[in-house]
Amino acid sequence: MLTNRSKVVVKKEMNFWERIYLPAILGGTIITIKHLFKKKATVKFPEVKREISEVWRGQHVLKRDEKGAERCTACGLCAVACPAEAITMTAAERKKGEENLYREEKYASVYEINMLRCIFCGLCEEACPKEAIFLTDRLVTTDYGRKGFIYGKDKLVEAVDKRIDVTKRQTPEVLEFKKHKLLSHNR
Ligand code: SF4
Ligand code: SF4
Repeated sequence: MLTNRSKVVVKKEMNFWERIYLPAILGGTIITIKHLFKKKATVKFPEVKREISEVWRGQHVLKRDEKGAERCTACGLCAVACPAEAITMTAAERKKGEENLYREEKYASVYEINMLRCIFCGLCEEACPKEAIFLTDRLVTTDYGRKGFIYGKDKLVEAVDKRIDVTKRQTPEVLEFKKHKLLSHNR
C-alpha cells in the first residue's frame, strides 16, 4: 500500500429509508432544481460559440510553401512523436514535373489523422522539421460515424488560394529561434 487513502468496503444491510430510496430521490431532485437557477456552464453550440484562445489547439493544417507546394516530406517524425498514435501516412517519390506540387523529393501520398484518437497535445507540430503541420483554432466538427473522423489530405492540406495563418501560434521565443536558425516563418 503506497498511500493510506484506501478504504475497506463493508457490505452493510440497508436500513428502511435506504431501501425505499425516497430520501435519495428527494435529495437528487433538490440538486437538479438548484442547478436550474444556477448560471449554465454550457453554451448552445453551434448557435453560440465561445471565444477561444489564439493558440487554441484545434484541427490541424498541412501547410504549403510560398509557391504553393506541400511542405510535408513524409519523414514520419510527427507520427513517431504522437502519443495517441493518431497519425498514419504513406510516402511516395515525387515525379518529374511535380515540383510545383511537392516541395521535396519525397511527399505524403496519404496522410491521415484519426481525430477520435488525437488528444490535441501539439507534439506533432513541435516534432515537424519542415513547418508542415500546425494545429489551428478551428474546431473538429461532429459526425455520426467513426470514418468521418479520419481526416485525410483533402481536409488537412490548406487550399492554395485560402491559406491558414498560423503566425499567432508562434511565441516571440519561437520566432526568435527561427530567426536565429534562418527558418522562414510560414504564413
Ligand atoms: S496533436 Fe498530439 S495527439 Fe493529436 S495528432 Fe498531434 S501529436 Fe498526435
Ligand atoms: S508533417 Fe512534418 S513531421 Fe510529419 S511527416 Fe510531414 S514533414 Fe514529417
